[in-house]
Amino acid sequence: MNKNEKIKLLADLVAIRSMNDNEEAVAEYLAAFLDKYGIESEIVQYAPHRANLVAEIGNGHPVLAFSGHEDVVDAVGDWNTDPFQLTGKYGKLYGRGTCDMKSGVAAMIIAMIELKQSEMPFEGTIRLLITLGEEVGEFGAEQLTEQGFMDDVDSLIIGEPTGYKICYAHKGSLDIKLKAMGKIAHSSMPDLGNNALQNMLDLVTLINQEIGDTEIVDPETGKFLFNFTVMQGGTQVNSIPGTTEVQLNSRTIDDFSNEKVINIIENAIKQLEKTDPKYQFDMEILMNLPPVDGDKNNSLIKLGQKIGEAVTDQKIPLFGGSYTTDAAKFLVDKPDDFPMIIFGPGNQSLHSSNEYIDESMYFNFIEIYKQLMIEGLK
Ligand SMILES: [Zn+2]
Repeated sequence: MNKNEKIKLLADLVAIRSMNDNEEAVAEYLAAFLDKYGIESEIVQYAPHRANLVAEIGNGHPVLAFSGHEDVVDAVGDWNTDPFQLTGKYGKLYGRGTCDMKSGVAAMIIAMIELKQSEMPFEGTIRLLITLGEEVGEFGAEQLTEQGFMDDVDSLIIGEPTGYKICYAHKGSLDIKLKAMGKIAHSSMPDLGNNALQNMLDLVTLINQEIGDTEIVDPETGKFLFNFTVMQGGTQVNSIPGTTEVQLNSRTIDDFSNEKVINIIENAIKQLEKTDPKYQFDMEILMNLPPVDGDKNNSLIKLGQKIGEAVTDQKIPLFGGSYTTDAAKFLVDKPDDFPMIIFGPGNQSLHSSNEYIDESMYFNFIEIYKQLMIEGLK
């Protein structure tokens, strides 16, 4: 593939509006693209208009998997260019998903095609796991893992936008919705009602006493985080509110896990409900992704650094991430020292307006992935 074809692949992907739905269009586009180069793939349907793509070359072990996601976040905010038209300016390529992470997906696809075209003999399998729904829920990675696509994988590279750094561990993420049920009444006669907002404040206070000022730090991924993020209750200043809802997000670590947060909240609910029948709560877990504990000595890291440093002529440092990725689902059954790296083209512009990728970084990652495919199977 020449340079223009490589840019065009990224441009075509950016043009597909795959905002955490409609990922099937990306899967179909890539399946047809790979087919032109004689690479077979399988579309794994999740829901109407939502599909993963799995493609493979080679056979047997080792199985080296590369993963990226099809979805992007909404293109809201002030853009200087059309977010769905790849626009080059001074060595930067602008567009929604250029950074997170259609450049990473394109780089994997190109690396795989060029490895196949080189006709270089190799032993083992390169498997692409291209997922839907990473930005909300990681449903695609969950589905592929449940269907066994990770069972025989020996090592995993996720192309999320780290830039020239390798991430080997990250926090978990937990979203919970709590609802208090009460009874509406006029505020001059509160005894006829049951104040759901006040009851919710009591619950929030109790939870905060247990978790709010937790200062636990994971050596790899940093501080445990816990925040109430949404609160809705009441309709009118002189009415006793009949329902109130809050939502919270926690960024979890090994020593303060998702289960621990859930237990504390469940216990707080039970404790209040025991003291007074006015307390009636509902709890719903919206998203539950465990931390990826990782091991900075896993066997893939040294190779990633060596290849990255050779291609870019700069040091490739390691870090533990505060965010979550599909690794949370892919690695549920794998040991901490499973060979995994998160290493892909990117910068700080992800999710923002005027998202971009440096053209040189895009091309460097095509080279890095190609070499990882060759060396990673040795
Ligand atoms: Zn991403």
